[in-house]
Amino acid sequence: MNTNTVRLFGRAGCRDSFELRDFMQRSAVPFEWVELKSDDDARKLPGIASLADRRLPMSELPGGVRLYNPRVRDLAEQLGFLAKPKLKEYDVSIYGAGPAGLSAAVYAASDGLKTVLIERAAIGGQAGSSSLIENYLGFPDGISGADLADRARQQAIKFGCEILQLREGIVAEFRDRKIHVTLNDGSLLVARTNICATGVEYAKLDLPNESSFLGNGLFYGAGMSEMARLAKKTVYVVGGANSAGQAAMQFSRFAERVVVLVRGKNLSATMSDYLSNRISNSEKISVRFDAEVTGLAGSDGLEQITVKDKVSGQLDVLPATELFVCIGGRPNTEWARDLPILRDSLGYLLTGADMYQAGRPPNIWPLERAPFFLETSVSGSFAAGDVRHDSVKRYATAVGEGGMAVKFVSHILENET
Ligand SMILES: Cc1cc2nc3c(=O)[nH]c(=O)nc-3n(C[C@H](O)[C@H](O)[C@H](O)COP(=O)(O)OP(=O)(O)OC[C@H]3O[C@@H](n4cnc5c(N)ncnc54)[C@H](O)[C@@H]3O)c2cc1C
Repeated sequence: MNTNTVRLFGRAGCRDSFELRDFMQRSAVPFEWVELKSDDDARKLPGIASLADRRLPMSELPGGVRLYNPRVRDLAEQLGFLAKPKLKEYDVSIYGAGPAGLSAAVYAASDGLKTVLIERAAIGGQAGSSSLIENYLGFPDGISGADLADRARQQAIKFGCEILQLREGIVAEFRDRKIHVTLNDGSLLVARTNICATGVEYAKLDLPNESSFLGNGLFYGAGMSEMARLAKKTVYVVGGANSAGQAAMQFSRFAERVVVLVRGKNLSATMSDYLSNRISNSEKISVRFDAEVTGLAGSDGLEQITVKDKVSGQLDVLPATELFVCIGGRPNTEWARDLPILRDSLGYLLTGADMYQAGRPPNIWPLERAPFFLETSVSGSFAAGDVRHDSVKRYATAVGEGGMAVKFVSHILENET
């Protein structure tokens, strides 16, 4: 075992243990999971009386520090992930350390800007949970999301970027041509420009053990990266709107069979005609209406789903190893609700020409010049990646937009502040 390894002891199926494992996995912290199977196993640990002891899970850090039933924040603190902002003012603050935010951090810091990156959870964003990203340029054999994120984190730090992890922007205010943000720990962060890369949170099924199958049979969104794996498989898609329809069509090119599970009674109310027609005409795709996924099961990844017929109440347990949940998502833009930042009807941030009305910038746009491509309706405030209206929702695109936003930030810092 590597001497930097964190050891985590706990019961099987314990959600707290999963959250700690998930955090360490996404943060590329080497760890060993030790599953306790009996009271005897548990009693071998100092201070633990039985398998039901509330002091479990227990983590043992390199150096011997033991944490009993820690939260993710406690563990992160011990690992040295929690730092306070060092400067009173930054050239650019970047919110969200997914691919877009990490890329912006690397390019801003390497250009010599005073850069701070704020992330409310683990570094890496959505793709941090992906076991293999196969379409990212330069990695022909694929690379795990956590590995890619950790490399980017190291690169950003190398260039002098400060990273504030497990912090979240709660309230923002634009004043004196700066953004003043209060973080969840009460600290205030001031920057001359900012990049919002807070991404999307996909809607979930709301089942108790759902997160344990994430990336291991259960996926949110169309999961383009998974296509290659699906040959000769049966794929289940949950959802009745266009995103589910498009996913089903894509999967049908590779998979042997695609089953679309729809809560409603038809597709016409929720899906474009052309798409529902294609689905009806496809020999590989079948649609099951009044269907609700009520259970997930499997010991090593997803193996079975339970589907309830909403009319008869009948429960069917089906073998399933590939379940794609396409029931929409919500951009992380609640913080912008009370600000003069324009969002579309779904909450995505409008930037550049996307916010034009009758061919002109909106009335609240304050400058003579046109907004830059990634600039929001507040000059100097940018959006990059999935959080942007009509974004491509790919890893590489998010990385590209993060880098591009820095180009505009530099222009503003040199010419407009
Ligand atoms: C399981 C999975 C696998 C995928 N695999 C692939 C693939 O193989 N190839 C591919 O091209 N695409 C893939 N994608 C899509 C790709 O990951 C996304 O397009 C990409 O992550 C978007 O990057 P982003 O930086 O814009 O946003 P996100 O990745 O969503 O990152 C946003 C970050 O912001 C943080 N955040 C949110 N609000 C706040 C706040 N107020 N303050 C601070 N931080 C905040 C979030 O915690 C998150 O870390 C996958 C997606 C998933 C879910």
